[in-house]
Amino acid sequence: MGRVVLSIDAELAWGFHDLQEPPADRLRDPRAAWRRLVELLEEFSIPATWAVVGHLMLEEGNGDHADHPLAGSGWFDADPECDATAAGHWYGPDLVEEVRSAAADHEIGCHAFSHVVFDRDRIDESTATAEVRRCVELADEWDLSLESFVFPRNVVGFREVLARHGFRAYRGNTPSRWYDDSAAYPLAKVADFAVSDSPPPIVSPKIDEHGLVDVPASLCLFSFERGAPVLEPVIGDHPVVRQAKLAIDEVADGDGIAHFWLHPNDLVHESDYDRLREVLAYVATRRDEGRLTVETIGDVARQTLDRRDVPERTYG
Ligand SMILES: [Zn+2]
Repeated sequence: MGRVVLSIDAELAWGFHDLQEPPADRLRDPRAAWRRLVELLEEFSIPATWAVVGHLMLEEGNGDHADHPLAGSGWFDADPECDATAAGHWYGPDLVEEVRSAAADHEIGCHAFSHVVFDRDRIDESTATAEVRRCVELADEWDLSLESFVFPRNVVGFREVLARHGFRAYRGNTPSRWYDDSAAYPLAKVADFAVSDSPPPIVSPKIDEHGLVDVPASLCLFSFERGAPVLEPVIGDHPVVRQAKLAIDEVADGDGIAHFWLHPNDLVHESDYDRLREVLAYVATRRDEGRLTVETIGDVARQTLDRRDVPERTYG
């Protein structure tokens, strides 16, 4: 049976603190967007992998970064530490708790401690290790065990560090056609996307050389918000909804994975919620028909690794 995976880059303001001009609309009320996303997933009983920036698990004002390799570099300057009015964008234990206690069986995964991009040209292994280790320590305090990782800005690196810290899986990059985090898209690509009747990539998990399961992304549900021409159709579905439905139909009764992802911050306008609701409703319908299952990255990893452990049958 085919599978749908939904992963969520849960970061509040941490996804933007290194940008010169953070997108104001996506930072207006990221906490409300997070809560509404939890509610929407409850409505359709859809579990997701919430890849949470570890810093959000800290209680307000507990931003102690003294032993972090980037302490003193300016990296943490945006964190208001004890300024409670501004702290809501940098701390979110209440929000993480909402995910943990939701009825939908969400997985809490990891999106690094402070959204450091795991790029070997920019950081060394000690920084990657500090980012991962701090999250594992925090999760431990929360009685959680982190298994799945989503790389900030989808830059896949230092996978050996994940393996050493007990992770089992990560979201890999979308094969071929798309690079979801690029600032702008060539118009031809956007046009192709808008009219295409072929689904986005249907993926399958692979075990990498570190023993980690790579569950690549198929489609960012808000990939055209940044720097791309707006393609709101006059009639019919939004192009992203149409692409998502094509992918869902492709995996229904099949055996691939349609792996969608988004940030809570992507939900800015009511039309954004409508778009997501339409995709979730479509997933729920196909699931209720018994034609696909909805799984987390952790579920996929477990099954993939279990299958590997089955000894090969010998004959003769
Ligand atoms: Zn991010």
